[in-house]
Amino acid sequence: MVKAVFPGSFDPPTYGHLNIIERGAGLFDSLDVVIAVNSKKTPLLSHAEIKKLMEEQLVSMGLKQVSVTTYDGLVVDYCRSVGASVLLRGVRSSADFDYEFELSILNKQLNEEVETVLIPTEPKYFVLRSSTIKELLNLGGDISAMVPPEVEKALIKSRARGD
Ligand code: ADP
Repeated sequence: MVKAVFPGSFDPPTYGHLNIIERGAGLFDSLDVVIAVNSKKTPLLSHAEIKKLMEEQLVSMGLKQVSVTTYDGLVVDYCRSVGASVLLRGVRSSADFDYEFELSILNKQLNEEVETVLIPTEPKYFVLRSSTIKELLNLGGDISAMVPPEVEKALIKSRARGD
């Protein structure tokens, strides 16, 4: 039984993340999406909002074997606590690969037992990144091809309350 963890800030959850989750769910016996703190990024949505939105999407995709958790410690410690042996990440570009490669080395040093598995994005999700979505949102651009309608609504609400 191979248990995998897919950590990220998912702020907001995008079609790119959902694609990696769907493909990861087909590779492992169970998959845990872990909403982790990224201190380098200014949050748009709260962890509770992200969890609710992510869970709604997983239900509509029929992915019952995928769960969603929030965690504010080291991801490798989370893996240890739930007995997960795979840390799943997505890669959009060679810049992403450099970052993910270094992160995988660091995580391996922190926990020998966890292997990082990288899944390359599909071309249609290549330009999907949260910084682009934030910019488009601020300028009133169309983000409907990047995030599900429920996520778009939550983002518009969060912008209206000035988050
Ligand atoms: P983090 O802040 O930890 O990088 P993100 O929420 O930005 O978290 O991303 C989580 C994971 O999903 C990362 O491995 C990232 O490379 C991957 N990812 C993000 N967007 C895409 C996309 N469009 N296609 C494939 N993978 C993606």
